[in-house]
Amino acid sequence: MMFTLAIVGRPNVGKSTLFNRLVGKRLALVDDQPGVTRDLREGQARLGDLRFIVIDSAGLEMADDESLQGRMRRLTERAVDEADICLFVLDGRVGVTAADEYFAELLRKRAKHIILAVNKAEGRAGEAGAMEAFSLGLGEPLRLSAEHGEGMDDLYRTLLPLADVLAAERPDTAPATDVDLPEDFEEDDTEAEDWRPSADRPLQIAVIGRPNAGKSTLINKIIGEDRLLTGPEAGITRDAISVGADFMGTPIRIFDTAGMRKKARVTDKVEKLSVADGLRAVRFAEVVVVLLDVAIPFEQQDLRIADYAESEGRAVVVAANKWDLEEDKPHKLNELREAFERLLPQLKGAPLVTVSAQTGKGLDRLHAAILKAHEVWNRRISTAKLNQWLSAMTEAHPPPAPGGRRIRLRYMTQVKTRPPAFVVMATHTDQIPESYGRYLVNGLRADFDMPGTPIRLIFRDQG
Ligand code: GDP
Ligand code: GDP
Repeated sequence: MMFTLAIVGRPNVGKSTLFNRLVGKRLALVDDQPGVTRDLREGQARLGDLRFIVIDSAGLEMADDESLQGRMRRLTERAVDEADICLFVLDGRVGVTAADEYFAELLRKRAKHIILAVNKAEGRAGEAGAMEAFSLGLGEPLRLSAEHGEGMDDLYRTLLPLADVLAAERPDTAPATDVDLPEDFEEDDTEAEDWRPSADRPLQIAVIGRPNAGKSTLINKIIGEDRLLTGPEAGITRDAISVGADFMGTPIRIFDTAGMRKKARVTDKVEKLSVADGLRAVRFAEVVVVLLDVAIPFEQQDLRIADYAESEGRAVVVAANKWDLEEDKPHKLNELREAFERLLPQLKGAPLVTVSAQTGKGLDRLHAAILKAHEVWNRRISTAKLNQWLSAMTEAHPPPAPGGRRIRLRYMTQVKTRPPAFVVMATHTDQIPESYGRYLVNGLRADFDMPGTPIRLIFRDQG
């Protein structure tokens, strides 16, 4: 599971320095556009094997009509509300100031989890400050040096259990994948159908893609334009991340980055750079719609985010937008299919539909593809069927016999859904080539008709 960490504190304590250290250069939203007051920055952070979204509330500048304090408070409140965890930073060389006390109070009221940190504590420089920080009543402070990279291991050790707590608190969000396969492979026979979209459990959709691909237009079309225009009273607040709607009879919640951004008067330039928004959208969604502009399909940014959606285990539908502008449709469709297979082999089998967000043409196809992908993502295959299938597969194409020792695939079962994950009990699992795993995954996809979902397959050694 990915969580969001906000770095908060008064100006000059080292928030940006810490942000840059956690995010690196890759995804930092760097805004060098003159005239735009810098807003919250977001990026994807890495710390050891932890991945999370980090928000930096730094970069305060005097606004024309507002005091620095007012603006600082507003920005900090927004960061705190968006975050699962707040990292409250003090300057260890200065000690606790009145402004720090003010922030401590605000955080105590609003923040879900608080980590206290004393920065600029390289060497022994922060010791006095760290002692003082106890007086805030927020526990023992971490000692960091953002500039020198000290204390990052302590930060990691503090975040790790919190990340687990957060994951446990949110059983209803789409799970991150690749982790925590149950140790016992007892099959869950319950015919659980409650994954089906309902008013209580709307299907969670995100539309992602490069700027100008038509995301806002598509989202407006899906949720009904008047609803978006009616604004906050209709349940759309500026800070909301999703909008509920009825999409051709299916209750959905759709992640609406683009619309919110536009409402918030943020310039296109800033939006363009906000890769973190795309990441957050993926994290929210059960089904991710990768929206392409047919005129410029499969750009770097599209590929990166589609790959991210797959690695996070989300169901994926690719939609080529502005199809109304295309002259030679059959030719273009072939071209798109070819490019798709070449550039996104990890999404093999994901549906590719053509739409016009503007005219609404193709929305029925998109709706059908989303429902299908969601169904497949939740699909459970019985152990009996799987093992029948497995013996047919191994018969047709036996696993290799390295050094004359036969690899035996004994038994197979599905251990989880969302996305479907399978365990194959086998001998000499370390000798099974990757290509054999791909053969099985592609076979599962074709034989059980499972387009649009990542499929996880794990070999477990059984002597
Ligand atoms: P922000 O306003 O909270 O974002 O603070 P900045 O990240 O812009 O840092 C303010 C100043 O403190 C800059 O001059 C940084 O170089 C300096 N600084 C940041 N972290 C450290 C640190 O760990 N040690 C020392 N000595 N200086 C630091
Ligand atoms: P976003 O940045 O991805 O949210 O893109 P917008 O929804 O703002 O759309 C960018 C531009 O493409 C706007 O001028 C839209 O009117 C236009 N556009 C969006 N969808 C279509 C479509 O299906 N056909 C055509 N011809 N133009 C479209």
